[in-house]
Amino acid sequence: MTTLAGKTALVTGSTSGIGLGIATELARAGADIVLNGFGDAEHALAQIRALGVQAWHHGADLSRPDDTAEMCRFAEGLKDGVDILVNNAGIQHVSPVESFPPEQWDKVLAINLSAVFHTTRLLLPGMRTRSWGRIVNIASTHGLVASAGKSAYVAAKHGVVGLTKSVALETAASGVTCNAICPGWVLTPLVAQQIVKRAEEQGISHQAAQAALLAEKQPSGQFVTPQQLGALAVFLCSPAGDEVRGAAWAMDGGWTAQ
Ligand code: NAD
Repeated sequence: MTTLAGKTALVTGSTSGIGLGIATELARAGADIVLNGFGDAEHALAQIRALGVQAWHHGADLSRPDDTAEMCRFAEGLKDGVDILVNNAGIQHVSPVESFPPEQWDKVLAINLSAVFHTTRLLLPGMRTRSWGRIVNIASTHGLVASAGKSAYVAAKHGVVGLTKSVALETAASGVTCNAICPGWVLTPLVAQQIVKRAEEQGISHQAAQAALLAEKQPSGQFVTPQQLGALAVFLCSPAGDEVRGAAWAMDGGWTAQ
């Protein structure tokens, strides 16, 4: 099994959903974890510490660059610096573009894209100094293809894939790699709210709305799990991942193969 013992991983947006799943798998591989996010931090910390590693939480609001910088200083100062950065925090807002509230556009771009730029620019220098680092950006199938009603999210996630490629090229001759993971549907609070909305709008049951959501995009008919995404992140952090650089790795039940 990959050992990440002695490494420190900062996982943004990790008090629930995919972020907590990835933090858990990194901890299982031995990494100490810095959590971030607005959910139940005590519960998430207990889940990670039960795996025998150290864990901390920083409650930075990543829509605010000053908060983001403070979180990066906190994480860098804990031990020997941040070795693994997982940019996972993200939000969604669904609306046709002509009625998309500009303040929601700004918020989606700030959290889903600009925060990735800020954590990367602040934590990459330490990784370069230590000649090893991993940057894993949680993009989305919406970083590769679009859906109607998600203009800000799709723009931000395509931006994340582009930023990933640029950073991968800038670090190509170093021990730092930068890659994106592009999940299809994962049953987390972010998607649960879309299922509830669909059931209400179409007057159908929650179960029918969930099945329709999957049938529309994901040929496997199954949700991707946070554990599977965590295992992929652990692989990217292993020696086998040394030459995976600038990839946008789909794990989407066949969504983008269509
Ligand atoms: P989630 O809502 O369960 O988790 C989002 C996390 O981000 C939470 O911990 C939340 O507290 C945190 N967060 C939100 N706003 C924040 C802010 N301003 N500052 C700091 N933290 C903030 O959602 P999720 O589904 O686990 O999504 C995680 C990532 O995966 C997102 O980037 C999302 O776009 C991406 N993604 C999700 C799916 C899916 O189907 N769920 C698919 C593809 C990509």
